[in-house]
Amino acid sequence: MINHRGPEFASLIAALTRALQDVLKTQGDVLLLTASGSGGMEAAVANTLARNDKVLLFVNGAFGERFHSICRAYGVDARRVDVPWGRAVEPDLVRDELAKEKGKDGAKAVLLQHGETSTGVLNPLKEIAEVVRDAGKLLIVDSVSAAGAVELEVDQWGIDVLVTASQKAWGAPPGVAIVTMSPRAWKAYDRSDLPKAYFDLQQAKASLEKAQTPTTPAVSVFIALQESLKLMAEEGIDAIVRRHRDLAYATRRGVQAVGLPLFADEAHASPCVTSFRPPTRVDSRNLIRILRESYDTIVAGGQGRLEGQIVRVGHMGFVTVPDVVSFFSALEFTLRDLHQAVEPGQGIAAFLRAYDEATQPPPKIGRTAPKTATLARR
Ligand SMILES: *Cc1c(COP(=O)(O)O)cnc(C)c1O
Repeated sequence: MINHRGPEFASLIAALTRALQDVLKTQGDVLLLTASGSGGMEAAVANTLARNDKVLLFVNGAFGERFHSICRAYGVDARRVDVPWGRAVEPDLVRDELAKEKGKDGAKAVLLQHGETSTGVLNPLKEIAEVVRDAGKLLIVDSVSAAGAVELEVDQWGIDVLVTASQKAWGAPPGVAIVTMSPRAWKAYDRSDLPKAYFDLQQAKASLEKAQTPTTPAVSVFIALQESLKLMAEEGIDAIVRRHRDLAYATRRGVQAVGLPLFADEAHASPCVTSFRPPTRVDSRNLIRILRESYDTIVAGGQGRLEGQIVRVGHMGFVTVPDVVSFFSALEFTLRDLHQAVEPGQGIAAFLRAYDEATQPPPKIGRTAPKTATLARR
């Protein structure tokens, strides 16, 4: 371990902050908290809002519910707009709802998820941000699972607070939440009277100016995150975004090829996680158990009201074509175990065909991102 009050840590946090500013495309502050992503969401609320502030909160999945609980716990008056799970928050809906929030008593801020990981939807943040900008509201975004994998320009799009976390697309272990703060967000901080101690972002900023953190950070996760960022810089953020987009597209084609219906609206399907329904009369928990116990393959199920009803396969971070091929191989065996009619190779073939179609020139299988693949597995 290195001393978190010493020179090695100082250069680590400085380099890490700069690298994150590059990927997130912001000149604003990037603060690193020792917490999971939810800690970052809590910090976003506690540092920019005041007691009884009205906010407009869009909920299209379990993480939207979490934002709602955090607002409630802090005494923020969140007007919640629910969107069916599996569908995206559309910019027109945001515009219509904001029209009801004009004037002094209107909502101070808009809160939503960027990627709603629980359903596999990517909300069209760029277009939504434009609408929120026009209305002059603060924009607070949970991009925990989307940042680092999808197109994102924090400053250009006018995002005031954006939260992400080390264990998602950054491909590092859990333990560090990353929070961006725009100059407007700092103005909101000044009028915020919500309680904050461990998550006081002003203290985090003051410490960062001395290249430190206010309390003991998860040093080992900081080190891992820096390794991730080095690998990401080698691949380049544009290539990373394309890889996620193409793998997700091909994954959806593979899922349909084995006869399973996609869950999320294809027009807003997440590049990070693909959700689909299990075969009729099969509980997704059973399918997931067979994948794990018989084929050493870990996928997730539904959360909250979707428990037992969907399967979610993650393809974010240092994921390559062979990783997804082995997922389809395991899925085909599992479906056969469940007495479903699946030809061996059916999903794999459709996945590879779609990936070929999406990428020009065709991929050299197994060599898509050699360095990241081997390092991520070690
Ligand atoms: C993972 C995730 C979170 C935070 O989860 P933690 O377990 O607290 O890291 C929040 N929002 C979204 C969209 C997520 O995917």
